[in-house]
Amino acid sequence: MKRSKPLYFLTALILSIVALVSGITISAGYDRLDALTSLERVEREHKSLWQRIFESMQNLNWADLFNKLAGVIDWEDFFSHLPANFDWAGFLNSLPADFDWSDFWKHLPKNFDWKGFFEGLPDNFDFRNFLKYAPSDFDYSKLPWGNMTADQLAGIPWDQIPLDQFANIPFEQFSRDQLLNVPWDQLPPEVLGNVPWDKLTDEQWYMLLENPNFPWGPLVGLLGLGLWKYLPDGFRLPEGVLPEGVVPEHDHIWGEWITVDPTCDAPGYRYHRCTFNGCTETQKDDNFTISPLGHKFDANSICERCHRRRLVITSHGTPQGGVTYNGAAHIVEGYDYDEEMLLPEHHVQVSGYYNNAIDVGTYRNTFYATVIDENGNVVSDNYVIDKEYGKIVVTPRKLVITTDSKEKKFDGSSFSVEDLGEPHIIGGDGLVKGHELYAFEFDISDIVLGSWQNSLLYVRIGPPDSAGGHIDMTKNYAIECIAGDLHIYR
Ligand SMILES: [Zn+2]
Ligand SMILES: [Zn+2]
Repeated sequence: MKRSKPLYFLTALILSIVALVSGITISAGYDRLDALTSLERVEREHKSLWQRIFESMQNLNWADLFNKLAGVIDWEDFFSHLPANFDWAGFLNSLPADFDWSDFWKHLPKNFDWKGFFEGLPDNFDFRNFLKYAPSDFDYSKLPWGNMTADQLAGIPWDQIPLDQFANIPFEQFSRDQLLNVPWDQLPPEVLGNVPWDKLTDEQWYMLLENPNFPWGPLVGLLGLGLWKYLPDGFRLPEGVLPEGVVPEHDHIWGEWITVDPTCDAPGYRYHRCTFNGCTETQKDDNFTISPLGHKFDANSICERCHRRRLVITSHGTPQGGVTYNGAAHIVEGYDYDEEMLLPEHHVQVSGYYNNAIDVGTYRNTFYATVIDENGNVVSDNYVIDKEYGKIVVTPRKLVITTDSKEKKFDGSSFSVEDLGEPHIIGGDGLVKGHELYAFEFDISDIVLGSWQNSLLYVRIGPPDSAGGHIDMTKNYAIECIAGDLHIYR
């Protein structure tokens, strides 16, 4: 075989490398080569460099090999002899960090086994450098996504990261610069939704705030109020990014005080409003009030300020002298007002008269009043309705009670309770139905000789209650007692 000298020299160089790295104890050089048997020489000349490297891979010193290769790898040769169980870890770990991958990509076979390759990746593998010459049709889904560090991910073009991989990207490891360099505003909504927002730290959220292009609006649109469970307490979004109706948790930011003037019948006050985006909260100043102005009626009883018409409605009361207690509520219906104050087709409606005037006493006959028009619409706002309440007077029920007259011969003792019997109702208005005289006490004094009156110290009147006692209604009775005579003689 005819050979030119440079080629022969190259072969010698290659052989010397193989010998060096494979631990085979032959030394390179013309002399030694000449000493090989012709068979060996034929075999060697028919084996390429990488074929021979792969065959003698045990105890191979990769670092030394790359040093000798000076960064030049014949990838075509490499790939054509690559064994299935190739030690990618040893290979990749020994490559210089700035290795030129351009020829790797150029000669990469279509059926290349990426699995072994990526399993052998060193921890700090520089994906940015590795992918620099990757063809545009490279299938990025093959990359070991779940195992990448933030730094490694940052080296991968964001538009090449498969959508379903965003949930696995360790954003929580990202530095401020890395976070700011993610093209957030270019990520489609489904990708934004896949980002593991729950893993970001409070500090990182504030970092994102520094990115003027961060898509807060779309993110709020996507996560709604759900976003706020991730945000730090008191975190404020930039102005104008919240959609209407979305009010996140926040510390209110109060604006200027706004004073509301008093009206005829309502006090003036002041309030401030939260200026946080989307918040509608207001807060009243409890220490600030201006008294109502009061109506200022003219000669026609129309207010000069609010132009409402003064309408006095007076409810009726009980007749002179009141009504007698009867155990039930006295409801007095009826009212008066000045019809001339009503506008045409307006009518007064009164309801809800006072319904608790039962016991003896004086009550205000309160009521509700509205003014309605001919269609039944409430038009009370046209009027200042002044209510005047009639009086309901409930007077006590008269009761005339008498006690028996008794006499006996002096025996050293006074009358006993048994001697005196019971008091009797003999007149007045009588007991209310269901009431009874259920307790009494005579004035049995120590007088044992002579005459005195059979006085009652007290009586109790009322209906029985469910507990076996009575409800004391005595206060509703005006009791007149006609006492009998008691006489003890010698
Ligand atoms: Zn607020
Ligand atoms: Zn007024």
